[in-house]
Amino acid sequence: MNTYTSSSLLDVIIVGAGPTGLSAALLLGRSRKQVLVIDSGQPRNAVSHAANGFFSRDGIAPSELLQIGREQLHKYKNVRFQTGKVIDAKPLGTEKGDRFQITLDSGEQFTTRKLLLATGVTDKLPAIAGFAELWGTGVFHCPYCHGWEVQDQPLAIYGKGATGFEMAQHLTGWSRDLILCSNGNAELSEDQRNQLSMWGVELREEKIARLEQENGALTGIALTTGEVIPQHGIFVQPQPHQHSELAKQLGCNLADSGAV
Ligand SMILES: Cc1cc2nc3c(=O)[nH]c(=O)nc-3n(C[C@H](O)[C@H](O)[C@H](O)COP(=O)(O)OP(=O)(O)OC[C@H]3O[C@@H](n4cnc5c(N)ncnc54)[C@H](O)[C@@H]3O)c2cc1C
Repeated sequence: MNTYTSSSLLDVIIVGAGPTGLSAALLLGRSRKQVLVIDSGQPRNAVSHAANGFFSRDGIAPSELLQIGREQLHKYKNVRFQTGKVIDAKPLGTEKGDRFQITLDSGEQFTTRKLLLATGVTDKLPAIAGFAELWGTGVFHCPYCHGWEVQDQPLAIYGKGATGFEMAQHLTGWSRDLILCSNGNAELSEDQRNQLSMWGVELREEKIARLEQENGALTGIALTTGEVIPQHGIFVQPQPHQHSELAKQLGCNLADSGAV
């Protein structure tokens, strides 16, 4: 709970209480800083059943991981939490970056010496029926996070050019029953096409109509030709975007990849 008031000058405000924000809060708390962590409750992997490959917590529910992180911060009374969305952040003081004032969607304001943005990213998925619905359960982005669970199963890769080609190469470590769906011209060289066939990856360039599902599980990829290819998982490289506009608002430079 937060007992800081709008007139307190905090050492650090952390926006975002996902793994990044909570890790920062732990070390700043132990450094005896007055810390306020503000979170709007929409972590990137909320749709996922399990966070895999995280040392000492393999397979844990994402919400439980965050709960443990918060519980371990209880003893640091100098770390407080506030629920809400930060909608505005601006530098105050004579020197730029001297102090920051932030405003929540509730209208509350806080002032801090340092502002740490741990707001994460969101993923823009292909605008094809089924991708959003199966995100995290049948549509995956990371072989390290989800490859083990679908190993040796019939899997698809969605993508064209280097993105699809490299993901296909990568996934040969988890399954040898792979198709690359480029949803139109695959934009691959003759060499790359030969390489795919040497790996045993079938290339399908037909347009995708939708992903088919049963009880929340992917059952097949329906092409606009009417054919349905039975698959148990599809890997895609979504375009990441900053979850919040705060970095942009503060004048930070954004790379084409969406990173600050
Ligand atoms: C489907 C899926 C499955 C994944 N599976 C795994 C896995 O198995 N293993 C693994 O290691 N990684 C996995 N990941 C990656 C993992 O989710 C991220 O690495 C992790 O969430 C990054 O943590 P973060 O704290 O940077 O961001 P997030 O977890 O996204 O947390 C950011 C927080 O900031 C808050 N926030 C944003 N803007 C504001 C604002 N303006 N005001 C207040 N709060 C705000 C959000 O509500 C959110 O709670 C997966 C990702 C996805 C999409």
